[in-house]
Amino acid sequence: MAQRLGGSIGRDVADDTFVVDGALSNSWTMDGDDLLITLPGDTHEIGIDTEIDPSANSKLMGLYASNGMLCTQCEAEGFRRITFFPDRPDVLSTYTVRMEGPADKFPVLLCNGNEVAAGEGDNGTHWAEWHDPWPKPSYLFALVAGNLVARRDTFTTMSGRKVDLAVWVREGDLSRTEHAMESLKNAMKWDEETFGREYDLEVFNIVAVSDFNMGAMENKSLNIFNTKYVLADVETATDGDYDAIEGVIGHEYFHNWSGDRVTCRDWFQLSLKEGFTVLRDQLFSADMGSEPVKRIEDVRVLRSVQFPEDSGPLAHPIRPDSYREISNFYTATVYNKGAEVLRMMRTMAGEERFRQGTDLYFTSHDGEAATCEDFVKSIEQGAGLDLTQFRLWYSQAGTPKVHLTLDHEGDTATLRFAQTVPPTPGQPDKKPMPIPLKLALFDRKTGKHHGEQLVILNEAQQSFSFDGFAEPPVLSVNRGFSAPVAIEREVSSEDLVFLAEHDDDPFARYEAMQDIVVRHLCATLAGSLDDAQRNSGRQAIGAAFSAVLGDAKLDDLMRGELLILPGESYLAEQMLIADPAAIRAEREGLKAWLGQTLESQFVDLHERARAVPGGTSAEAKGARKVKSQALVYLAAGNPGLAARTASAQYDAADNMTDRQGALMVLTSLQTPGRTHKLLDFYNRFKGNALVIDKWFALQASSLHPNVLEHVKALAKHPDFTLKNPNRVRSLYMPFTGTAQGFHAASGEGYRMIADLILALDPLNPQTAARFVPPLGRWRRIEPGRAVLMRKELERIAAAPKLSRDTYEQVTRSLD
Ligand code: ZN
Repeated sequence: MAQRLGGSIGRDVADDTFVVDGALSNSWTMDGDDLLITLPGDTHEIGIDTEIDPSANSKLMGLYASNGMLCTQCEAEGFRRITFFPDRPDVLSTYTVRMEGPADKFPVLLCNGNEVAAGEGDNGTHWAEWHDPWPKPSYLFALVAGNLVARRDTFTTMSGRKVDLAVWVREGDLSRTEHAMESLKNAMKWDEETFGREYDLEVFNIVAVSDFNMGAMENKSLNIFNTKYVLADVETATDGDYDAIEGVIGHEYFHNWSGDRVTCRDWFQLSLKEGFTVLRDQLFSADMGSEPVKRIEDVRVLRSVQFPEDSGPLAHPIRPDSYREISNFYTATVYNKGAEVLRMMRTMAGEERFRQGTDLYFTSHDGEAATCEDFVKSIEQGAGLDLTQFRLWYSQAGTPKVHLTLDHEGDTATLRFAQTVPPTPGQPDKKPMPIPLKLALFDRKTGKHHGEQLVILNEAQQSFSFDGFAEPPVLSVNRGFSAPVAIEREVSSEDLVFLAEHDDDPFARYEAMQDIVVRHLCATLAGSLDDAQRNSGRQAIGAAFSAVLGDAKLDDLMRGELLILPGESYLAEQMLIADPAAIRAEREGLKAWLGQTLESQFVDLHERARAVPGGTSAEAKGARKVKSQALVYLAAGNPGLAARTASAQYDAADNMTDRQGALMVLTSLQTPGRTHKLLDFYNRFKGNALVIDKWFALQASSLHPNVLEHVKALAKHPDFTLKNPNRVRSLYMPFTGTAQGFHAASGEGYRMIADLILALDPLNPQTAARFVPPLGRWRRIEPGRAVLMRKELERIAAAPKLSRDTYEQVTRSLD
């Protein structure tokens, strides 16, 4: 039988090193990059020598060098860059690995599983042998060799087994690993309590590397992390960074069950592990901090990243049905919408029954390479749900739209729903899907509702009636964001103001605030408001903001969320064709108006928050959040005052949250203090790569009119390099969000990103391809800019030797 082993190590098997059952053999041929072996019978022992040069590996896939250490990244198809192998996730094997090398350069040798033997060799070498008893696919293989130090701790599992934990970093970074270790222990405990999942080995290692394409990787018992999601102390990391570290540490740890013990049959099933694990990390973070605030943050990401993906040329179902390069499908759709789809099942089943479903999934598929269908069946059986129609959420792309009206007659309120799922590439016609909507009907007079209801829409059109309302009630719908859909309805601004003030679901309160602003800005941008209407719209928003600023019952973490204006990309999403400059101008105009109108309230808020003692309590975090929020509005309304206040906040800062918040505002202002503070920040943190990343990102995301020139100059800065993905992302990703930079009417911003893609593609195609989607939005941008965006995509497409990654993204974006 011929066995095909994937390989892209770039050449044939080395001469005379192919061994079958202990003897040299020539029963192999090459087929392109793949190795074909033809042997009689079923079972053989095969030996292949390969020689690779990790320091020449700029793709950061396979075995590569980073900062003097060696490490691996094998998901999705990196293992074949180490050796020829049936590199598919449904091939489960146990691994025994022997590593040998110079002891001075590589004193620490780590691999999956347990170290079973170690010793000294000749000429200053040493070796270690590791064995992982759990069968796993090659994408979960990992090894690390380097000069590393560890923070060590232990965790005792629910059945009383002791696990040795270690977080490995470079010397000098050890003091910034405490939060990562705490997060790991919390995650281990939480997964036992919430999902009944116990850890299954004696050791759990985390290694931080500074060159990494993604956030982190769940290799069995040897998680490899981007330093960004490990290292933190108050001086160098913001509260947001702390939260992200907790979330990613949780995420990778949770994969031990949802990904490693039960893995994916093929890469079409990616959401089986990613959607589920994102849901698990979201629930974990909610339990560690504030549930409603976490929900709002997650929905904000979904709307600003996933919704545009779902309505653009790269739209795909959470279980994609085709790909050329799987790396392109590590998307917000597979991850975040995937999590929303599971969350809907949980909402329909209830927490307890959902848990019975996941228990059944884990026990019935332990040790297997499973499918999304296996998961759905387990939930059906374990939770007692019929998910026949619900399966459409796995196969249909696009964000469903739910149109709704509320009628009132006699004492009956009637809700009429119509759902449509928009056409997406390759999917012109869609079927209605089950949409679970949590809703409540409020009595206008008492400000109370008659109990929350869950309605499940499963037809194109449906209506539901509710009795007992002498007056027309106020409807609160999609509470908690129970379904990842866009709601379209006629609603008065009085009703929205009512909900913003009275809704007992904090998410719904946030939603009402957002809705008020979105409706106002969209109407202004459409030119459908006269001056008087525009003014009264602003007054309503001002009143709602003023109420939020003055509400003593609100905690500051929540207040901070309520004060965030809907983002430019979400606003653009509301329009068929968007003009980024107009959106920017209108949104900034509103911000300035609020900053002026409510100046004294923002000043008071800043002063009150400044008096709150520091630390990591929710109160202290909330105070820091609103402090920087207040600065943002003041900067828009009264730049002079804001510059002084921000400078003072910067100078007094004893933590990165305050310092970055202040510097962000200064960076956006045309004030003499700007350059001075940027220089101070740079000098203060010179040599700390993660903080210098922030320095690049702050300048690249700024509202400053010259952001384009700034980014051009920063690309020539000695600290800039295309070789480090964090550095590339920190300069260019924020830039793609700038209306005055990326979307400069001249097209220069688009050209810069296209140039970046072309320069980065030969080095690191995976990271290069991630810059294509911002250009791919051209169809939804006003025609003058759309032409320029398209032209850049065409220029990329015409380049010789484009990687599969970039080629796929560019051609899909042009089709
Ligand atoms: Zn993951």
